[in-house]
Amino acid sequence: MLSEKKFINDFQKIKLSEEVTISSDTFVMMAGPCSAESRDQIMKTADGLAEMGIHVFRAGCFKPRTDPYAWQGSGEEGLKWLEEVREQYGMTIISEVSNYTNFSIVEKYTDIIQIGAKALYDHSLLINSGKSNKPVLVKRGFGATVNEYLRMVEYVLANGNQNVMLCERGIRTFETSTRFTYDLCGAAVMQAQTRLPLILDPSHASGNKDYIAKLSWASAAFNCDGLIIEVHCDPSTALCDKAQALSLTEYKEILNRVRQFAEINGRKVV
Ligand code: PEP
Ligand code: MN
Repeated sequence: MLSEKKFINDFQKIKLSEEVTISSDTFVMMAGPCSAESRDQIMKTADGLAEMGIHVFRAGCFKPRTDPYAWQGSGEEGLKWLEEVREQYGMTIISEVSNYTNFSIVEKYTDIIQIGAKALYDHSLLINSGKSNKPVLVKRGFGATVNEYLRMVEYVLANGNQNVMLCERGIRTFETSTRFTYDLCGAAVMQAQTRLPLILDPSHASGNKDYIAKLSWASAAFNCDGLIIEVHCDPSTALCDKAQALSLTEYKEILNRVRQFAEINGRKVV
């Protein structure tokens, strides 16, 4: 049980790169498109984000889509574009593993392994991540209680890897006016019961780009450890999660105020 704080009691600092360490005085901004669609899309988005001082770039290459006939991602080719982003901009790369068949390849190309909401109960991914020497971000499943979520996360810790980040990305409730319900109550419990960094994801929680600014500011004021937000160089063409994709300009506006709220909490945006 994570509530027993079995392994380490102190807040888990995670060094992601020379520029970025997750700690109680930093606030990490992870941003990028939902999925890697083309080399051009990846490089344009990364270029815009790098210019804003963003250090952690996200993009999924193996997408666990709800519809089997929907586009499933660019696979290894996409991971190679992400490698180029690291080389060209020095950014840290986070990308999702969707099942055990792509675990090794994603682990090889990325700096941070992301386990998605739909894969929270994939024990093979959790155990493999626990044996990896790369940091892991485990998203809360949208049907998992906080306690069920933390028990799954414990599989990663129990297998050795302590560099684990939690991520609240919205849960399913009776409310249908947003894609999911952003559970900040649950997020507060996660912070109280664990010593793991907490990253909040307003993009998947709301599913609507119009609400992401407010939710990002609330999240920065909430004093979590960072945000993961979907940004696309041309949102109108996004192949995945289009309704929540922010343009680079929209993201930049959000970022300025996130900085102010983070600073109130004694944190520097990295
Ligand atoms: C994603 O990050 O693009 C994603 C698929 O998120 P989630 O697992 O939270 O649905
Ligand atoms: Mn997405």
